[in-house]
Amino acid sequence: MSHPGLGTEDAREELDAQRILAIDDRFDFDRRWHGWERTDHGARAHLHLHQPADRGVDVDKAADAVADLLDALGVDTAADGLADTPARVARSFAEMLTPEPFDVTTFPNEEGYDELVVARAIPFASLCEHHLLPFSGHAYVGYLPDERLVGLSKLARVVDHFSRRLQVQERLTAQVANFLQTALAPKGVGVVLEAEHLCMSLRGVKAEGSRTVTSALKGIVRDDPRTRSEFLSLAGTRR
Ligand code: ZN
Repeated sequence: MSHPGLGTEDAREELDAQRILAIDDRFDFDRRWHGWERTDHGARAHLHLHQPADRGVDVDKAADAVADLLDALGVDTAADGLADTPARVARSFAEMLTPEPFDVTTFPNEEGYDELVVARAIPFASLCEHHLLPFSGHAYVGYLPDERLVGLSKLARVVDHFSRRLQVQERLTAQVANFLQTALAPKGVGVVLEAEHLCMSLRGVKAEGSRTVTSALKGIVRDDPRTRSEFLSLAGTRR
């Protein structure tokens, strides 16, 4: 973890980031999962999210393991149509578990915009770490700006980034909120995720169509009743 080019004006944010990262250790949100680099170009600040070099998918090894799994499940892996399945499955998992590095560019809030910014119904899909089955739905991500603004498309990229790993919905929700709090230092952040878990709808209780809603609220979005209810109504989950 390194912070090249960190200017003195960002010293407070740096301290905040360290504090938040320390708090977030219980969510596995730290250097074991991704690295940060920060560079400042004039008024713009880039926060680069990336995977540490020592992580990655061994696709060939995964394909062998999928073939073994199919065999153990009693599947005739020599059957027509299954020849490429192990490699295909391995590549699918590799894609779903490999977050793409990207830059979160923030801009100075020159006009002093101080109302909620909310991106609604961002589609996302992730993999449940208990069953390796997908859970998917929509994310509602908002923040109350302070000195920095971020491009709206980046809110969706942040959700996608943290979705591409084995997850539980609660942790994914917290990681998106904690990252935005760290990267933007806004007055508040709100994240609501609504998802259907295939491990619930295809097996076990077979609660088809049931949706799980999780939320993580920070700062004024959590503490001020009016802002909180405004965010939650803007994030009104679709039924
Ligand atoms: Zn599950």
